[in-house]
Amino acid sequence: MNSETPSNTHHCSFCGIEQGKDTPLIAGIEGQICEACVRLAEQVVTNWGRKRSMAELHGNVPKPGDIKRHLDQYVVGQELSKEILSVAVYNHYKRLRHESREILGLAAEDAEVQVGKSNILMIGPTGTGKTLLASTLARIVGVPFVVADATTLTQAGYVGDDVENILVRLLEAADGSVERAEWGIVYIDEVDKLAKSPEMAINTRDISGEGVQQALLRFVEGSQVKVAARGRRREGGGGGEEVTIDTRNILFIAGGAFPGLEKHVEKRIGPPRGEIGFHAPMQDSKKPPLEDLLAEILPEDLRRFGLIPEFIGRFPVIAPLEPLDEEAFVRILTEPRDALVRQYQKLFAYEGVELVFTETAIRRIAARTIERDTGARGLRSIIEHILRRPMFEIPSQEDVRQCIVDEDTVESNAPVKLVRAGETGSAAAVG
Ligand code: ADP
Repeated sequence: MNSETPSNTHHCSFCGIEQGKDTPLIAGIEGQICEACVRLAEQVVTNWGRKRSMAELHGNVPKPGDIKRHLDQYVVGQELSKEILSVAVYNHYKRLRHESREILGLAAEDAEVQVGKSNILMIGPTGTGKTLLASTLARIVGVPFVVADATTLTQAGYVGDDVENILVRLLEAADGSVERAEWGIVYIDEVDKLAKSPEMAINTRDISGEGVQQALLRFVEGSQVKVAARGRRREGGGGGEEVTIDTRNILFIAGGAFPGLEKHVEKRIGPPRGEIGFHAPMQDSKKPPLEDLLAEILPEDLRRFGLIPEFIGRFPVIAPLEPLDEEAFVRILTEPRDALVRQYQKLFAYEGVELVFTETAIRRIAARTIERDTGARGLRSIIEHILRRPMFEIPSQEDVRQCIVDEDTVESNAPVKLVRAGETGSAAAVG
């Protein structure tokens, strides 16, 4: 016999299920809700949030001109690449915005026009700003970003980094949010190393490099990839939960120095080699500069270089970077918001010391970097070397007010000039 009267029985106001020992209800002011309905509601709300944030993100993507201006604050020169990248990134997120409008049911009837993804291939000598451009872009757009080195990647099953690992790291960069990871930017460095090396005969195949190209292809084209969501729930032991990441909307930017690629371009666009006659002696001096050749790169040149056609086809936007000259190095040292000179000045300022580089010192550092041929990366190691001693000594000398790096310091390892409290320092300084 049931002792409860029907008026005491509560039902879920959403699905109508009756309250019971196994079906507790949460009471509200006017009704109640069961556990199953709470869970369902959570799913619905999460989906709303996802759609909303998708629309918000893509509603706020800056215009190409704004992206370029932002890049200008951090990256010196590389005008052509900056423009190409700004447009490509803008279009990529515009496309996503359109897609999210479709999900929200706001899209117009032209839904059958699918705008394809345009991944980007950056080509230019090492240390000219490829990684810097990609990371600055990600920061401007506000999406998760990871850098992967193509040379450490292997096909699944081989010793090395699995291609899947890139997505695991992207997920970490997105704080574990699959939705954010799915709109991220992946920069793959040194893809030129995946090409068949030129020394190899035409018919032999560099299995590992090509295998990695194939493995990457699957990602870049867009696929559902299962990855272990490690990181946040690690304590539980074991491999952690598996999540599926859809790579369709991840923007892939590949980069490489492609040494020797310009020869293929030159062959294609230049006058026939070995030409004789009165034009012949002019040829060498008329050789187009590297930056002009890089700007002329076509997919067929990349194929001759040794990348597989499918891979090239997935990177339809080519952004060439020009080699940096002394002038560019001088600007890199002083102009960007986080220019090296400013970084070291800040470090010294923490000690209450003003760090000063004379103009000639800056020029000499730039010139020495050219000699080293390591691109802008060489700048830091030269400055580190110059400032090693002062950075060791100054913290224990409280009366130092100014530290001056001049031409002698750069050229002949002369000690930096220190100005102490009560002394007067030098003028003609940079920064
Ligand atoms: P790449 O990827 O082309 O080999 P990076 O972007 O890693 O070169 O450059 C290495 C470092 O050199 C950067 O972190 C940055 O400090 C500096 N750098 C390189 N190119 C530029 C540039 N065009 N403008 C400003 N800094 C640059």
